[in-house]
Amino acid sequence: MDLTVMVKPCSISGYKQIFKSNKMKFKIIPVTSYAQNCSLIWCEKTLQAAVIDPGGEVDKILKTAIDAGIEIKKILVTHGHLDHAGGVAELAERLSIPIEGPHKDDQFWLDAFPEQCEMFGFPVVSSFTPDRWLQQGDIVEFGETELEVYHCPGHTPGHVVFFNRSEKLAFVGDVLFKGSIGRTDFPQGHHELLLQSIAQQLWPLGDDVKFVSGHGEMSTFGIERRTNPFF
Ligand SMILES: [Zn+2]
Ligand SMILES: [Zn+2]
Repeated sequence: MDLTVMVKPCSISGYKQIFKSNKMKFKIIPVTSYAQNCSLIWCEKTLQAAVIDPGGEVDKILKTAIDAGIEIKKILVTHGHLDHAGGVAELAERLSIPIEGPHKDDQFWLDAFPEQCEMFGFPVVSSFTPDRWLQQGDIVEFGETELEVYHCPGHTPGHVVFFNRSEKLAFVGDVLFKGSIGRTDFPQGHHELLLQSIAQQLWPLGDDVKFVSGHGEMSTFGIERRTNPFF
């Protein structure tokens, strides 16, 4: 699947094309030694963007946004693990933009950034307090696009999933992977709770929903429901 999406904000024809439709576009940027899928997502009409899980390599994320001609307005975080959140403080500071997510139950992971840096083998980075903790039922907006928030504990207690209903596209962090599910052997991980989160929160969104995981390739909820060995 070709995940590269190009926009041409400077050309008249490109602008007209963008203006007609109010779709969300996205581009996956693998960051850190864990090849974590940072996602740059933007409103096609306004070219206002959000970054989901900037785990690191902030310069690479900024360059991708500049090349696409889009403006990053906020940072969204699925959970408090360093490979997903290690670049959040730097990006927020450099762009003076707000941070939304994860759920407050992941605060202990953010508080433990120094220990996480050691655990993940990362250079020491600053932690942060989100401008907005997220919970079930919340909506996050950028431009004229919105994402629904689902609280999906199990991998971490405060893990959230972002869902764009019009594109039928979900950003699930480390909850679900193509052919696998998130680890639950970390502090406050819970295997049964993770399975329950997936079955009760994700599957009802529809078999045709495509998802971007924190690591690895994309898949759909339908394919995973049928073929994932954990179900
Ligand atoms: Zn994780
Ligand atoms: Zn991860």
